[in-house]
Amino acid sequence: MLEEYDFDLSHVTSLIKEKHAKVVGLQFPDGFRREALRISGEISQNTGVRCVISANSCFGACDVDTGLLKSADIMFQFGHAEIPNITVADTHFIEARSLTPVLPVIKQAISEIPDHIGLISTAQFVHTLTDVQKYLADHGITGVIHHGDKRIAYPGLVLGCNFSAAAPNCDEYLYIGTGDFHALGVALATKKPVRIVDPVIEEVRMPDVDRMLRKRCAAIERSLDAQAIGVIVSTKIGQCRKELAFDLCAMAEAHGMNAHILMMDLVTPDALRAFNLDAFVNTACPRIATDGSAGFPAPMLTPVEFEVVIGERRWNDMVFDEI
Ligand code: SF4
Repeated sequence: MLEEYDFDLSHVTSLIKEKHAKVVGLQFPDGFRREALRISGEISQNTGVRCVISANSCFGACDVDTGLLKSADIMFQFGHAEIPNITVADTHFIEARSLTPVLPVIKQAISEIPDHIGLISTAQFVHTLTDVQKYLADHGITGVIHHGDKRIAYPGLVLGCNFSAAAPNCDEYLYIGTGDFHALGVALATKKPVRIVDPVIEEVRMPDVDRMLRKRCAAIERSLDAQAIGVIVSTKIGQCRKELAFDLCAMAEAHGMNAHILMMDLVTPDALRAFNLDAFVNTACPRIATDGSAGFPAPMLTPVEFEVVIGERRWNDMVFDEI
């Protein structure tokens, strides 16, 4: 996998030397974890430091291993762009830019692309957006690259929980990247079509929005008689929405429900199984409710879906949960 990406290990070496670090913490998301030992070995060899690899979750730049950071002089999280409005001292984000060319699949899709379209991507391909924009312009198409909010490091970058870089003045989006996860989020958040152009498997496709909406509708219906709810709050630094959780509890109580706040790091079915609750409302990573709720002992709702359940919001006014 490593040869497909550009990790800037020379930058890592410079930062370690600058800091005179002796113990270095390393975090890898699942996709890069198999390279952890090799990268750790290379860093130790280049700098003489002791590396400590986090074996905890690393879902995004929201998920900094603050426990490991207490034992390290400096920490590097690989594979994610920083979230600018979260600052953690001595933590650096080492992006993994894909070296896979994107224009072959854009050429394949060109006849289907409308004259005006928003361009979006993830940290692995966001550096290609200006080249895509130029290529589209040569074919008479305006590709719009929009600046997101304070959670977004680059124009056109989308996270699974933040789609503010999807230009509001576009009726359709072109997502350059792999998987359906981000494109599905944009389609649900904007209620507009998103075309995925996947440079790795050279495929053009659309995410399955209807399937997700059916699942969310079912979760809401199963929660309509709920009397006791658990409101989940994350301890992860970039996922913690404590104030929202308190507000949701107060709202539930005003509707005659019993509400309990559950604070946790990793939100898993096993961790919640012992609580005898009718529904959960998730204020941690929004995608836990929408994409990862299978196997939980009770329906898992987003905060907005919970408002629909208690009649504080109409189904038609539902919006996708974003941080
Ligand atoms: S909150 Fe969830 S979707 Fe957002 S960056 Fe973190 S892991 Fe990704």
